[in-house]
Amino acid sequence: MPNPNTFTARRERFIKQLGANAAVLPAASLVTHHADCYYPFRQDSDFWYLTGFDEPDAVALFLPHRPKGEQFVLFVLPKKSDEEVWNGVRIGVEGAQIDFGADVAHPVEQLSERLDEYLAGASGIVFRIGKHPKVEPLVLQSWAKQLERFPRTGFGALSLIPPCPILHELRLRKDSEEIERMREAAQISAQAHELARGVARPGLNESQIQALIEKYFRDQGARGPAYGSIVAGGDNACVLHYTANNSSLKDGDLLLIDAGCSLVDYYNGDITRTFPINGRFSGEQKALYEIVLSAQKAAINSIHPGQNAEGVHLTALRVLVEGLLGLGLLRGSVDSLIEQESYRHLYMHRTGHWLGLDVHDVGAYRLGEYEVSLEPGMVLTVEPGIYVSKRLPVPSGQPEIDERWQGIGIRIEDDVLVTQKESEVLSAEALKSVEAMEH
Ligand code: CA
Repeated sequence: MPNPNTFTARRERFIKQLGANAAVLPAASLVTHHADCYYPFRQDSDFWYLTGFDEPDAVALFLPHRPKGEQFVLFVLPKKSDEEVWNGVRIGVEGAQIDFGADVAHPVEQLSERLDEYLAGASGIVFRIGKHPKVEPLVLQSWAKQLERFPRTGFGALSLIPPCPILHELRLRKDSEEIERMREAAQISAQAHELARGVARPGLNESQIQALIEKYFRDQGARGPAYGSIVAGGDNACVLHYTANNSSLKDGDLLLIDAGCSLVDYYNGDITRTFPINGRFSGEQKALYEIVLSAQKAAINSIHPGQNAEGVHLTALRVLVEGLLGLGLLRGSVDSLIEQESYRHLYMHRTGHWLGLDVHDVGAYRLGEYEVSLEPGMVLTVEPGIYVSKRLPVPSGQPEIDERWQGIGIRIEDDVLVTQKESEVLSAEALKSVEAMEH
């Protein structure tokens, strides 16, 4: 489990950046699956990042306006043996202080009566509106009372501020411990891809490959898949968020697998590989695969401090468009195709996203006019693809696509850490050369 000092250090950084504002951060709640059954609990990533506390319905207060020793307050589900016997042991109020570093802890049912007192004296309230239906009315009520008193007292929180700009900027830059965890998530995920390619053959079902991958995640001590695994044979790969995973694998088709694990402390891998089910690429499959691979390598090579996500995307896009032009699947000049987006029937998504505690991790990609520059410690996916299907119309001026290309969907995705020098491909253990994809 993560080192408690890591969370202490993060809280210190967060509290410092709050200035004179108090923050209220709720944990996630259980989500109903059906009737009285819940989905497995998934902690809110912001809450986890600052507390490492993995129970539902807790609320953390960060109070820079209070003296040291009173700045981190946790409200938690109290220990109650009659409830614990059904739902498992709780950490409780004492545990929150002893094991999770809370300066003060209370049972969560006392939040409404204690919130006013804790927030009094803060110059603003940091709280994410629209996301926490149980806690939001309490925060608004408390704020309203302060505003009402303001004309008489001259004190009160005058603004409600979202936590994202502070917290998500912190989360975007991974500390050394986080980088270690992301290496592990990527490594387990990569090994599962290697296993899957080893067993895939015509006649197996996509679901069997999914089961193998997810079993490996659990065997390695991960929580499970970070997101709905995509195991997509043939044309299914052209459905970007295909998760039915219930078709039989066909001789002559490619298999696209987009899967990654989530560790116990929620760090995620996110890897895509595409390979021929029978071990040999057809001419068309190989031609497209080589384009995607070149685009992906060029994009990864372009990653260095000072580059930005848009630059990485454009690097990949240019190689894809040049390659598709070379095969006669696009017509025109590279620049005008890119400018008019006349490639979008073949490549309709961006080339990557931040990766961390969330699979599509937090952090801005641009601030107004400015692209956010890559810095050491940021982790992003690089995932160009080509998808040839009849689902999207061919734009006017572009060539109709011959039957022999149809149903080929390819994506290659790695998890890449920005470092001072060359970027580090965290998922490198999953092979991707043409030779490795064939057997
Ligand atoms: Ca993915």
